[in-house]
Formats: sequence, structure tokens, C-alpha cells
Amino acid sequence: MRIVSLKLFPIAIADPPIRSSYGLHAPYAIRTIVEIETDEGIKGISETYGGEGPMAQLEAARDQIIGMDVMQRMGLWLDFEKRAAEEAKGAAGDRSQTWHVPGENPMDRHTRTFAAVEIACLDAMGKALNKPACDLLGGRARDAVPFSAYLFYKHAGGGGLGDDEREDEYGEGLTPEAMVRQARQMIDFYGFEEIKLKGGVLDPDEEIETIKALRRAFGPKVPLRIDPNCAWSVDTSVKVGESLVEELSDGGYLEDPCAGLDGMGEVRRRLLAQGIPTPFASNVAVTHFRHIPEAYKLDAVQIVLSDPHYWGGLRAQTLLDHFCGVLGMGVSMHSNNHLGVSLMAMSHAAAACPNLHYACDTHYPWQTERDEVVVGGRIKFEKGCVRIPDKPGLGVELDYDQVARLGERYAKLPYRKRDDEAEMRKRVDPNWKRVLPRW
Ligand SMILES: [Mg+2]
Repeated sequence: MRIVSLKLFPIAIADPPIRSSYGLHAPYAIRTIVEIETDEGIKGISETYGGEGPMAQLEAARDQIIGMDVMQRMGLWLDFEKRAAEEAKGAAGDRSQTWHVPGENPMDRHTRTFAAVEIACLDAMGKALNKPACDLLGGRARDAVPFSAYLFYKHAGGGGLGDDEREDEYGEGLTPEAMVRQARQMIDFYGFEEIKLKGGVLDPDEEIETIKALRRAFGPKVPLRIDPNCAWSVDTSVKVGESLVEELSDGGYLEDPCAGLDGMGEVRRRLLAQGIPTPFASNVAVTHFRHIPEAYKLDAVQIVLSDPHYWGGLRAQTLLDHFCGVLGMGVSMHSNNHLGVSLMAMSHAAAACPNLHYACDTHYPWQTERDEVVVGGRIKFEKGCVRIPDKPGLGVELDYDQVARLGERYAKLPYRKRDDEAEMRKRVDPNWKRVLPRW
């Protein structure tokens, strides 16, 4: 079953002004929808990062993709691995995302490109065999995949511009009370049973207070996580760990508190010396299989936050799950702004991972019906979970009118890459710079 056509649809989706240590989200997030077609007339789709870089990398691989058998992807994987190894030789620094927003890390461009192709191939294979994608990965460990309420500090505004401006569904969120409200709203609608707070935005004492307020509001049965994206020093990370011993227990974790595995290892040692066992998660210091041995050796990370979009697809996700399971490490899943195609790819990947015991991240509540590209509209959640549908492949089809509409919007945008720092200077503080550690 060979690929005879590859189509790339760049799209823009409205996004509220949410914050992280990287800066501010722009009024539109950019994505790319990938569609392949086989010589049997079967289509396969995937969703990946948007903008010039990811599009150019897919275009550069077009000649390899056309003619490829959807079941024989190893050649492309090995070729990309070889190129990545050659490029890594001459490159300074590591492959971490400390200084790159996901999707803009030059060192994982090959695994990102591969993932976009692989997911579309699995969708096509599933349709050819009349089997859900996760059943092509060895079968499922669960039929419904839990996601967490992913809270963000935010300014007023619902995203979009001009006539396309969105209602501000969650309102401004810059205080502990507002964040409890945001959590309650998200939980009431989606049924989430775990909460993650994106931190690294306000003074750590205020973020500690937000976590404590969430604990008071939701109790110990709702696990809490905080992710400041490396905004804290080692000392500040230790202080936050000490302050949130109880709140981050029972299924909670501290995510990428400071930059680098050495720093996280030191924070871990200092907390353990005080009898504080809070586990650390990472999607910044650990972004590739080669990071895991060191993370393990330093005991810097206990939970790897995978992401099929940049770890190399759904099969790589299951390999990572197995690898971490052997080492006694946990697994969960990172997210970026995304639509239903990605949500289903993430769900199929997580369904096939027996070692994934923490609810996955998702930005899905931050997007709206008006931006969904799958037929039938938004994917439904039941008690915070996405149920694997009894449909072949990813289980979703493209709404081409929507893809075209979102493509027109992309064409009008003045930017072709995500730049949260520039957006922060434009809308909040003209002198803002990303500084690590900030506190
Ligand atoms: Mg993170």
C-alpha cells in the first residue's frame, strides 16, 4: 500500500492570551494538517506543529514519502536518525527544550517530521484493515484515556482578532481565586479528575498559594501538578517542593522546576534528604530517548512526559512507555495547542501504553468548536477521558470546509512561527525577556 499523494494544510486556530515562562500565546496558534493517500485510494491524516519550519521539513521529505509503503516506515526512520546524529555532531548544546518552545526545537525536527508521516500511515493502515490505530500498536491497555484540567494563568480575552474574536470563556486568571474558578469550570464541563497548573508566570509564593487553594477546593482525591518550565533556581525549586509536600503528593508531581538534569537532580537530592518524595516530571530536559539514561542515573526525572508529535510517533510512544517501565519510571503526556486529529492520535498512543498512569495534558479546552477540523465537531470527553472509538484508524475524518477556512486565516497571519517572547513584548511588557532562572 504505497503513498501516492501528500497534502499539507497549514491552519490557524484562535488561542486565548495564556501565559507560561516562555511568554504569551498569540491570538492564533498555528498547526499543520497532513493528509496522505495510498494507491488503494485510502487516505490517512495527522496533525503536527505549524509554520514554515515544520512545513519545509515535510516538503523536504516529500520525495521519500511518495512511493513509501505505509507498512514499511523503517527506512525513513533510519534515514532521519542518521541525519539527526550527523547534525548533532556539529551542533552546540543539547536537545532539550529549555530554550525552545515545542515544535521549534531544531534538534527534534526529524522525529517531528517522522511522527507526522507515521501517524497518517497508521490512520491509513487502520482504515485498510478496519481496525483502530491503537490496535495496530499491539492492542490497548485501556479503552478510555484520562486527561487533566490544564490550567493557565491568563489575561482577559478569548483569542482571535477582529470579527473572529472569541468570547472569553474562562475570563482573566491571575489570582488563586480565579484559578480555582477556571479549574471548576473546566472540571464541570469535561469531568477531569486531575489538575495541572502551568506555572513560572507569577512570583512562586503566589503560585504556591494557587496550588494550596486548588487543594482546599478539590481535596486530596484530585492530584495536582505544577510546571514552571524551568523558571526557578535550584534553591527556589527546593523551597516550592518544601512548601507543597502535601499538595503534590497522591499522584501529583513537580514538572521541570529548574533548567537541566543536573539542577533537577540536585533539587531531588535535597528534597529526598528531608524525606520529601515528590516525583519530578519533564518534557523539557528529557525530549529524546538518549536523555533517559542520564535522567535515570541522576534520579532527576521520575516521570517522562512523552509526546508522540516530537518523540517520533505512536510506535515511539509505546517504546518509550516500555523503556520507562523497565527502569521503574512513570510516563504521562505533554501537549501543545491542538485540534481533534491530534487529540485522537494522543489518545490512541496513550491507550497502547500500559505504563502510563498519570492523566495526559491537553490544551483542547482552550480551543473552540469554531476551529475544529474533524467531521462532527469537537471530540467528547466522558469523566475527563477520551474513549477510543470503534472506528478504523484515528477514528476521525477531515471537514474540508473547516480546513479551508482555517487555511485562509493562516494565509492572513503575519507570522509563520510561534514566538511567545515577541508576543509578550507586544501585548504585556515591551521590555520583557525570557530569563532563566527568573526566581
Ligand atoms: Mg512541561
